[in-house]
Amino acid sequence: MTHQIQGLQRRHFLGAGAAGAALSLGGLSGCATPLLGQKPIGRVVVIGAGFGGATAAKYIRQWEPRIEVTLVERNERFVSCPISNLVLSGARRIEDVTLAYDGLDRHGVRRVRDEATAIDVERREVRLKGGGVLPWDRLIVAPGVDFQFDKVPGLAAADASGAVLHAWKAGPQTVALRRQLEALPDGGVFAIAIPKAPYRCPPGPYERASVVAQYFQQHKPRSKVLVLDANPDIVSKKGLFEKAWKELYPGLIEYRPNSELLEFDAAGKLAKLTTEDVRADLFNIIPPQQAGRVAQPFISVNNQWVGVEFQTFESAKAPGVHVIGDAIAAAPGMPKSGFMANNHAKVVADAVIARITGAPINETPIIANTCYSFVSDQSVVHVASVHKWDPAQKTLVAVQGAGGLSSARNAQEAIYADGWARSIWADALG
Ligand SMILES: Cc1cc2nc3c(=O)[nH]c(=O)nc-3n(C[C@H](O)[C@H](O)[C@H](O)COP(=O)(O)OP(=O)(O)OC[C@H]3O[C@@H](n4cnc5c(N)ncnc54)[C@H](O)[C@@H]3O)c2cc1C
Repeated sequence: MTHQIQGLQRRHFLGAGAAGAALSLGGLSGCATPLLGQKPIGRVVVIGAGFGGATAAKYIRQWEPRIEVTLVERNERFVSCPISNLVLSGARRIEDVTLAYDGLDRHGVRRVRDEATAIDVERREVRLKGGGVLPWDRLIVAPGVDFQFDKVPGLAAADASGAVLHAWKAGPQTVALRRQLEALPDGGVFAIAIPKAPYRCPPGPYERASVVAQYFQQHKPRSKVLVLDANPDIVSKKGLFEKAWKELYPGLIEYRPNSELLEFDAAGKLAKLTTEDVRADLFNIIPPQQAGRVAQPFISVNNQWVGVEFQTFESAKAPGVHVIGDAIAAAPGMPKSGFMANNHAKVVADAVIARITGAPINETPIIANTCYSFVSDQSVVHVASVHKWDPAQKTLVAVQGAGGLSSARNAQEAIYADGWARSIWADALG
């Protein structure tokens, strides 16, 4: 185990479980020393400044300031998916989940606002839409997901029309979906279509159904939420969601399992499912997903995800290219979450430093996850898990007895959930 990872596990990992959630924002350490004209000992390029990429860029600079880190991000600001469902229900504003990137400057991260269009593994270069070329010794690719609109006839046209939204990347679509919900007449039916797992944030669609139901209860009591799930059952926190729906929103949420979307007619507001045809006044279709476009040449699992080796997160297909976050094929039980992406980032920061300096890598990484879900704006439930390298199986395995679920929804965890979000934003960007 290297020096950095020991320190990393003690000081930097956000804790698993509710107790770890209330970290203060003041715990971040000081500035990395800039290179001041000295030749760097290595050049790292990071693509994507989300939960994974921003964290990796910052921690490499903090732990090894002799490495030059360039972070490429196409968006001007960071908009957090966690908490964004509350923007839909009106309990938060989009400004509450939007953060600037300039906190990374004081760590000496070179920020480039552009889109990475291609990765040349042979030449070790990233090409940018704006025409630039960035050379690297190690590359970290953290682009999140892109949507497979072409898997469902009619979905690409529906997306292009701008009338049918996913709001599964927080930002303009979140604001637009809120407007659609506000415009829905009392009595209107709102249908959420969930793709087959794995997808970004397993409990996210059920959280969305819950908080939209709360909004309807308060403002459009004759309206209804229809959950059309391609999966055979609620994918995460099943009992807690079912209980909340029954007790808080009786008759307001209807759940239909095994309802995979086969075809969509945006003009007719008609979804053809494996089980039936459904009409609704407003559809929110969460499309099937795969690794973000720039990582797609490295896809090796189910034509969707990038397979990595979990001690270093190096791609199975491209030496020197490390892929983290939602884009990877996760080990069993590991969700696609911001918390996981943040944890991947710290393992990869340590591994990349080790590869550049010649230090040994950490051979026994342990990572953790806690996902909070609002079942109303005042009441929250969580699921937590810990994942440890298993040398025999050569993968990360869930640690038995670690983690677990809330025993019941409660108001205390609403405070933890807000604290967790502020902590992880500060950890990635502060
Ligand atoms: C509604 C909702 C609620 C959620 N709630 C939670 C929660 O409570 N807790 C939790 O842990 N997770 C939650 N998640 C999941 C979480 O948002 C994702 O798992 C997380 O964002 C993944 O991090 P990432 O770094 O892989 O991708 P992202 O955070 O999506 O970051 C990818 C970044 O890369 C940029 N990018 C992509 N391609 C390029 C390119 N070619 N060039 C330049 N830039 C590029 C993108 O603009 C983006 O900024 C939620 C998700 C949703 C949709």
